[in-house]
Amino acid sequence: MRRYSIVLFVIAVFLFIAYINVEDIESILIKKFIKQTNLKIDNEIKLKKSSTLGLAIATARDERLVHYLIDRDLNLSLDTFSMKLRKFTQFKNIHFKLLNVKGKIVYSTREVLYYNHCKKLLKLKRYYVADIMVDCYGLHFAAFVPLHKGGEIVGFLEVLSQFNSIVKDLKRFDVDAVVFLDKRLSAHAKALTNSVQGYKITNTNPAIKLVRLLRTISLSKLFHTTEPTAIGEKILSTYPIKDLAGNVYGWIVYAKDKNLIYANFINRSIIIRILFLTILLAVALIILIRYFEREKAKQQQQQLRYLYNVLDNLEEIVIMNDGKRMKYANKAFFKYFDEFGNLEEFLSKHACICNFFVHEKGFLMPIVDGKLWTSYVYEHKNENIYAKIAYKDKESIFQVKANKINGNEYVVIFIDVTEEYQKEQKLRTMAAIDPLTKVYNRYYFEELAQEKIEEAVITGNVLLFAMIDIDHFKSINDTYGHIAGDEVLRQIAAIIRQKFRQTDPIFRVGGEEFLIILETSSIEKVLQLLDELRNEVASAMFASIPKHITISIGVAKYKEGDSVQTLYERADKALYEAKRTGRNRLVFEGENSG
Ligand code: GH3
Ligand code: MG
Ligand code: MG
Repeated sequence: MRRYSIVLFVIAVFLFIAYINVEDIESILIKKFIKQTNLKIDNEIKLKKSSTLGLAIATARDERLVHYLIDRDLNLSLDTFSMKLRKFTQFKNIHFKLLNVKGKIVYSTREVLYYNHCKKLLKLKRYYVADIMVDCYGLHFAAFVPLHKGGEIVGFLEVLSQFNSIVKDLKRFDVDAVVFLDKRLSAHAKALTNSVQGYKITNTNPAIKLVRLLRTISLSKLFHTTEPTAIGEKILSTYPIKDLAGNVYGWIVYAKDKNLIYANFINRSIIIRILFLTILLAVALIILIRYFEREKAKQQQQQLRYLYNVLDNLEEIVIMNDGKRMKYANKAFFKYFDEFGNLEEFLSKHACICNFFVHEKGFLMPIVDGKLWTSYVYEHKNENIYAKIAYKDKESIFQVKANKINGNEYVVIFIDVTEEYQKEQKLRTMAAIDPLTKVYNRYYFEELAQEKIEEAVITGNVLLFAMIDIDHFKSINDTYGHIAGDEVLRQIAAIIRQKFRQTDPIFRVGGEEFLIILETSSIEKVLQLLDELRNEVASAMFASIPKHITISIGVAKYKEGDSVQTLYERADKALYEAKRTGRNRLVFEGENSG
């Protein structure tokens, strides 16, 4: 959950920053637009003033102007000059006036009522100057230059050019502009008919939409603020028109569409819409992902619950193990290890189920061939591996199977085969034991003799085969019957059995022949024991027959290179030797005894 909150927070911050930036960029663009437009107007005004003045200076060089002033020479052609300017230059509305030294108009290319502007300039004694002026046609640039004769000023030339051409220039930059006259001056501009709230409009073809818009707001308020105003889709600003003395003559109100101001910039509403959509998408995505994750987790949980249910109903012990540590155990596990209620309790006392393994040959150990038991079992999947587990007072045999699930996790199953194992073990011993005498049979001799020889080779102990044959046994059978004979066999086997250790295996290798495999460090001691046995048998009383019985014993010692066969043959040979030399004797191969 925390992860998603972070994502949401980041998005929120991003949105906030982006929103602020949009605001910033907008205001920067607007400021830039106002600054540039004002600068353009400034430049236009300067240019107009200087070009008008330049024109006046150039025109004033014409001596005919002075002639006219003094002599009223009718050869003056200022009208045609004005016409030529209109035709061949950008000056479309140029007018010339000649004034005497007192400032009275003596000639004009246009019949005009005009504001006493030049008189003011005369007072100031600024003779080469261009400034703004108002006449009945509205706003103009007016340039004054003196006319000289013989070093004396004889009059003035005034050149008038139109102010409104500036508005036309702005139009080229998609800026609509309306020029308003100050109310006090509006009275002079008698030829102007358009006005808004008492302010006369000086442009001849003002932008109609802008004028309509301006009728809806307070113009005087607009003129007194330097801040841009946003109305509808337009940004408005004003430029105060001032003369050289700093008097305000009027205002240029100009406007441009917001969209055009942001022209190269993505529209704000689009940005907000994109951001909004992005957030919506992100939120939807998060919800979707969370939903799927939850569903998946639910599903997994269900599957796990099902799996655990199945596992808990198994009689076999099932554990999961990451190769080192137990991570799961089913109910059967706790049924067996019944002092533990759950896995934590078990793990707090035992690191591993393998702590309970009985270290016995043929059974699984915690570490086999240098490998942990789990991986060993896994790698020997196809073999029958058994673990003997001792817990409390019971000992059980389990067949162990391991499987790997993702990576290093093992599922280990312990199948309790104690009963089967014991049965099999019993069967195995049954197959090895002679039912009459209860000593091992010939079959088991074949199996064990080789092992015993190998063992002796390793330990370096002396290994002896002692072969025992009952003397004249045939006559016992003949005299007392087979059953009595059997009883004698049983009794003699018992005498042999009690004479030797459990670890010295005794075999019935023939009808009335026994063989003992003896491992010792002292041959003398064993030979003595065997001879004692011979004596004990000889003096024993038998329940089934009323007479004594003797045995003959032949002993052979294992020599390097011996096989079971050769050693057996030598023992038999020694026995034969005992028989031959009189019976009731012990013969150790190569020597005579007793
Ligand atoms: P010796 O060994 O001293 O030369 O004489 P012997 O009479 O014992 O001769 P041998 O070993 O050849 O005789 C074996 C006899 O043992 C033959 C058989 O009647 C008897 N016998 C073999 N197996 C059994 C058995 O399972 N029960 C009984 N009652 N007698 C058996
Ligand atoms: Mg015999
Ligand atoms: Mg015999």
